[in-house]
Amino acid sequence: MSKMIYADNAATTQVSQRVLQKMLPWLSQHYGNPSSIYGIGREGRAALEEARAQVAQGLGAEPSEIFFTACGTEADNWALKGIARALRPKGKTHIITTAIEHHAILHTCAALEKEGFSVTYLPVDQYGLVSVSDVERALTPATALVSVMFANNEIGTVEPIPEIGALCRRKGVLFHTDAVQAVGHLPIDVQAMNIDLLSLSAHKFHGPKGVGALYIRKGIPFPATFLDGGGQERGRRAGTENVAGIVGLGEALTEALEDLPEKTSRVTAMRDRLIAELTKLPKVRLNGHPTQRLPGNCNLSFEGVEGESLLLLLDSRDICASSGSACTSGSLDPSHVLLAIGLPHEVAHGSLRLTLGDMNTPDEVEEILQAVPQVVERLRAMSPVWDTMKDR
Ligand code: PLP
Repeated sequence: MSKMIYADNAATTQVSQRVLQKMLPWLSQHYGNPSSIYGIGREGRAALEEARAQVAQGLGAEPSEIFFTACGTEADNWALKGIARALRPKGKTHIITTAIEHHAILHTCAALEKEGFSVTYLPVDQYGLVSVSDVERALTPATALVSVMFANNEIGTVEPIPEIGALCRRKGVLFHTDAVQAVGHLPIDVQAMNIDLLSLSAHKFHGPKGVGALYIRKGIPFPATFLDGGGQERGRRAGTENVAGIVGLGEALTEALEDLPEKTSRVTAMRDRLIAELTKLPKVRLNGHPTQRLPGNCNLSFEGVEGESLLLLLDSRDICASSGSACTSGSLDPSHVLLAIGLPHEVAHGSLRLTLGDMNTPDEVEEILQAVPQVVERLRAMSPVWDTMKDR
């Protein structure tokens, strides 16, 4: 049997050996509670602070500005709800975001709307890009926060974050970015990019699942607590810390950023080969920006094909891919991201997301290039509509 090919790195990634080895002692002999004052407790505390310093270093932040969370979703919830509730007494009841955010942002915004906040969902262009002047036009004296994702999880488009950051700083409005897909894959500097809050998640860059972080720029208005309870995370997020997970997060970020340019060019070259070859097939389009996209992301729509069938046939050949984000696959609704970039429903349904990482190899890419055209052809041959659409 051929080896499994994992091409769904935007859904999650494999924990690296280096990260695993660094985590293991914290799941075995070093089991102390970091809040305890004796030796094995203090060791845990020191490990947390080392990881905090690693994350801070990776973002150009200070360790005191990093708060650990249970996932990227929690960091997103905390950023939006925290700022909204802190600024509401000042009459700031408006949030600006985009139509293509992850549900961790969109559903949080919907929850805030129920609490009386108003939310502007900015449209994107055909490539999934948000326009900086649209952000500027949407600002009102009541705007509390602008939240724009760093890079989209489905189509890979990288947003103009430094420009939006500069605009928000000039206008005195706080700026959050959901950088869950970007951290560990693109260089990020929260100072240079004028980012006030940033969410990240370890499992997207070879760290463990179930641990994330929120960067909160020091000095910004923020309520004292998100989770009430003990005094962990300087009283802002109670709960005994996931020491092994946090240690894994810190190490994963350090590892991901080592030799980043070299890894980026290797992954980008594999992605570009996928795009160049697969877009030669008839009636296919590339979703997302042609160049301003995540190094590993290749998202294509094939007319006359159902994404779910495509995934099943690829799975039968041991190729793991996705047709939308992992959270929405399983639902038959077309992806809100593909609809936002203007795809008709039937084209959005035939989409395939292949996301490569630095653990993929050029040989795997060649195998994908063998499999996808065969699978697409087979599905089109069985399709009742393909005959009528192929010559259009
Ligand atoms: N934001 C984006 C852009 C994501 O891609 C994801 C996960 O797919 C999340 C947030 C949620 O992160 P987590 O799985 O850690 O909750």
